[in-house]
This record gives sequence, structure tokens and C-alpha cells, in this order.
Amino acid sequence: MIKKFFSVVMICVIFFANTNFIWATDFFPEYENPKDIIITRPTNNFQTYGENISLYGACDYDYPLYVNNKEIKYTEHGFFASYEKLNDGENIFVLKNGEHEKQICVIKKTAESNPTKPKDEIKLFEAKKSGIVTRDNISHRSRPDEANDDLLEPLVKGTLVNILGETDEYYFISDKTFIYKESVDIFDNELKENKIYGIDFDLNSPEIKFVMDRNSLYQVNQNGNEIEVVISDSSLDENFDFDLENNFLIEKMDYKYDGEKKSVNFKIGLNENIKTNGYEVKFENNNLILRLQLWPEIYPYEKKLDGVKIVVDAGHGGNDFGTLGPAGTKYLNEKDINLIIANKLAEHLKNLGAEIIMNRTEDVFVPLADRVKNIKESKPDFSISIHGNSRLETKDYLGVSGLIVYHTFNTNNAPEFISRALSEKLDFVREHRVSNLALTRITNCPAILVETSFLSNPNDYEKLINPEEQNKIAQAIADSVQEYFYSVK
Ligand SMILES: [Zn+2]
Repeated sequence: MIKKFFSVVMICVIFFANTNFIWATDFFPEYENPKDIIITRPTNNFQTYGENISLYGACDYDYPLYVNNKEIKYTEHGFFASYEKLNDGENIFVLKNGEHEKQICVIKKTAESNPTKPKDEIKLFEAKKSGIVTRDNISHRSRPDEANDDLLEPLVKGTLVNILGETDEYYFISDKTFIYKESVDIFDNELKENKIYGIDFDLNSPEIKFVMDRNSLYQVNQNGNEIEVVISDSSLDENFDFDLENNFLIEKMDYKYDGEKKSVNFKIGLNENIKTNGYEVKFENNNLILRLQLWPEIYPYEKKLDGVKIVVDAGHGGNDFGTLGPAGTKYLNEKDINLIIANKLAEHLKNLGAEIIMNRTEDVFVPLADRVKNIKESKPDFSISIHGNSRLETKDYLGVSGLIVYHTFNTNNAPEFISRALSEKLDFVREHRVSNLALTRITNCPAILVETSFLSNPNDYEKLINPEEQNKIAQAIADSVQEYFYSVK
């Protein structure tokens, strides 16, 4: 028994060590016919209010596949998705494939028991309250709903805010915006008015320092070479002053105290020859610092992206598989495909001369906060996160396919540019979309997240596991990024 136990353990160790090693590189084992039916989604006894369900998995591709005696099409390697109608209560689906037979139960719950979602109603506080933002990169919105056209730049950790009220998920703060409750510590007092004493410049770096009493609530809006900074719960000190002499960055600066809103508005006009590619706000010793990410100095005589620093992020990893592929853990899942494409993308960008920073280069788990921190600290000129898409089980898996570029902010119109450039190189690019994702909720450089295709679509999955197609996607992204850095004078 003991001997047998050890040999089993040994085989497992070797097997896992091997797969990790192989999948972390460009080479991975070819897909083998499982000679079985694998139902990856939904799970058995899956419960839903939906009218339909997509059955998704892999089968022995030497035999036809039947669902409840109806033949189902599958791909070259036997990957299938079948969209089935659900009746109230239990629905049994019997899958037959050669000698194999498997069944799965899906339970459709009735609409009466479907709980209605609570409203985004604002409840104002009677007593004065304030709070401190405890994490970077939290959701900040102009409205408390889940639409994505109302996203504002996330407030940095340490921002102090007066809180006027709340909804279920958000605090309503003094500039009439909303911040995600989970990342705010709340206090039973009102903040004293913040005084702004002046503006300092470091004549060697692209930073603008607002000298003041405390980390006050702010908003930044950039439109080309005009930047508006609004500092809330604040007023100007009577000796407020600044000096623009010898300033390489700034042409002019207007400011105005808004008595009604109790805020100070600054309008900064950058010098004509200054070109930026994002900005970042930070607090240091109670002062607010606006750091501008200047357009990189590119040295085209060497290689086309010499002088450009790019973060390449491979989504998920380790215990976080992302979306499972049709064969489940028997073959490549989202984390594996992301890593393969990200590694190829990094290679192509390096060949163009770019400096590459990767959030992971092997099959390990990296928390989202660490990935975002890495992007902030390395001050890149561009950030690309690679993911694979999927739909809800209740949608038709075969109904949607293709690549989508996600972004939160349209910094320098880069996301739009990349999406357009990609659609000229690949014939499966869909429209770009605004989304509230941690890896795109970044202002300090153009930050995109590319969903390379839908793992939930068996045809897309065939493409995603094909080394030639993976390379095509990686090459297209690298070339599009290169075109972006040459698109602006
Ligand atoms: Zn993902």
C-alpha cells in the first residue's frame, strides 16, 4: 500500500512539474482525444432563472455526439457548445458519444422567487461624517449605478473626504460623486477646511505640487494640453502664490475659488511643445502632486520602440484559472492561453526595442492590487493586459466571438487607436468597450485589456490553442502599439 501510494505521488509530482514547465513556455503538448465526454459547464444541478443554457465541453471526436438524441456539431478537436431551452424545475440532458453516456441536471427557478435588485437611492446622513480612502484604484463614479460611462479616475489611498450620504454600495461625497464603500474608513466628524498655500515646481521633473494642509478630495480632467484640477473642501490662503518663471512645463495657470461648492479650480495650460501620455495624482506630506507622464523620447534610428517602456500583464495564473476551456483542467485554460500570448507579445515588443515589464512570466497567482501597483511604480508608457473572454452560461455560447479591447479612460485616444489598428490586421476584432476593470482603471498611461477571443465559443477556443493564431494575435497587438507611438507628432 505504502509503496503504491508513493509511486502515485511521484507520478503526480512529475506530471504537474512537467505541465507547469511546458505550459510556461511557447511549447505545450498537443491536444489529445479524451475518448470521453467532458461537460465543463454548467456544473451538475446548476440553478438559474434563465430561459436557456449552454452545455459546453469536449468529446471523443471519432464518434458523433448527441444531446437528448439530437446530434450536436463539434469542432475539429471535439469541442462543443449546445444552446438548450429550459423548462421550469429540473431539466435532464443526456449526452451520448460512442460508448459513453453522461447526464447533467439544470434547475430553472421560477421568476416569482427572483429577488428584485435594490435601488441606487441616496440616503443623506443627518450627522456630519468624513472618511479616508484605504486602497488605491477604487471605483469612483459620477452616478451610483453600474453603468460604465460615469467612471472617474480612482482616488488615491489616503484621500480624505467629507461624506454626505450613502447608497447600498457607495458613499456620496462632498463633490457630489460616489466612491466604493468597501475601501473607505468612516469617522463621525467633518473635516476642517483645507488651505492651499501655493504651487511648487521641480524644474527638472514633470510634477506640479499643490502645497496644502491635508490630503484633500480632488478631480483632474485633461483635455490635450489643458488640465483642470479641482480641489474640494478647500480655499486659498491669503498669501497663495506661485512662480512660472523658467517653467518648461507650464505656459499659464488660472485659478478661482468657488464659494458655493467650497472648492478651488485650477486651469493649467501646458507649453505647446509638451506632449503627455497620462497623469498620476499622489499625496506627499499633505501636498497633492500631479505627475505628468511625458511622451517617451523614441530613438527610431535603432529600433522602432527604443525608449518606450511597456507593461505586459498575463491575466490570472496559479490557482486562478480564469475561464475554463471545453476540456476543463485536461487542457489549456484562460490563464495558460493568456500567458502564452503575453509571452509572445513581450517577445515581439522586445524585438521592436521596447523595454518590457511583465506582471508574471510563469504559472503563478499575482493579486490584482500587486499588478496595478507594478504599473504605477514602473511608470510605463503603455500597459496591456491579456485575457480570454466568456459569456454567462444562460447565453448562447456560439452567438458571440472575437477580440475586444477594453479600457476605462481613452487616454490620448490610444484604446480607440489600438482597436482600429487591430481590426486592420485581424478579421475578428469587435468594437472597443469601456469597462470598470482594475487593470484599465489607470490614468498614468494608456491602459488596455485585450480579450483575445471567447473561450466559451468552441470555434474561438480552437483558434486560441493554435500556436500560429496565438502568434498572429501577439504580432498584431505589438504592431498596433508601435503604430500608436508613431501616430502622434
Ligand atoms: Zn480573464
